[in-house]
Amino acid sequence: MTKNRESDGTANVSPTDAHERRAAKPVICYATSSLPPFDVNFYHTARVSATRTVLLEIPPREARCFVVPEGCFFRISCQHGSQVGDLNLWQRDDLSEHFFSGKTRQLHATHLTTGDRLWSNMPYLRPIATITDDSLSWYGWDDDGAGIHDVIGTRCDPYTHNRLHGENYHHCCHSNLTRALADKRGISQKDAETHIHDVLNVFMCTGFTKDSHQYFMKASPARKGDYIEFFAETDLLGALSACPGGDCSSTHSSDDAQCYPLTVEVFTPEKQSLDTWQPFQRSEYIAK
Ligand SMILES: [Zn+2]
Repeated sequence: MTKNRESDGTANVSPTDAHERRAAKPVICYATSSLPPFDVNFYHTARVSATRTVLLEIPPREARCFVVPEGCFFRISCQHGSQVGDLNLWQRDDLSEHFFSGKTRQLHATHLTTGDRLWSNMPYLRPIATITDDSLSWYGWDDDGAGIHDVIGTRCDPYTHNRLHGENYHHCCHSNLTRALADKRGISQKDAETHIHDVLNVFMCTGFTKDSHQYFMKASPARKGDYIEFFAETDLLGALSACPGGDCSSTHSSDDAQCYPLTVEVFTPEKQSLDTWQPFQRSEYIAK
């Protein structure tokens, strides 16, 4: 499918060799075969030994923070109904290192599942979490080209909503995450807002339309009991917002959608199951 804006006058006329230019072969930008592989046996053995040490419920249209020590697992689940969550992650002791959805998307895909890593921003650029289990991994890509656990989009926010609709709405995920971080760290909302970053949209089903390549959402296939689970590759501070869009089947940034709580659990493995585990070091690149 090619974009053609000649008809509405916004594009110039195609050159005579347009077909040839468009026929160039796609090349994967980042071949990841040199990275450490996902070690199924290691994560499985550690997880089997783990016991739950934290249970937290995120109220609908709100966010909460949680801490996950390195070497522990955390699970996000829909225990009450289909609900999308917006996830931020920071290195617990240094908020300047946080999840980098853009590079994660380039290294893995537009949507994440078991075996994918959550990478941190530059200059750190290392996996800070690994997805170790995903009850929706069966979904893959549907006929609309959509997938689950999106890193294309970012959090819903009051600035875009105000720009598009002229309204002030205070429970967008951006605002929920800001308030949660401010509460957790005892800092002002103004300071907290500077740390809020592009999210992993947990359970969110999205894609780009085939004709106009616009970002779309559709009803999340998550049902009661669905979950996604992560391994903390460093000490993490997380913030999760139960999006005001609910299952994101129709609308967001309002109180119109049916919303449910989300559940966060932390599981701590037995120490000896981590004997072979090595934390990822921050990038070794040295600038001139
Ligand atoms: Zn949201």
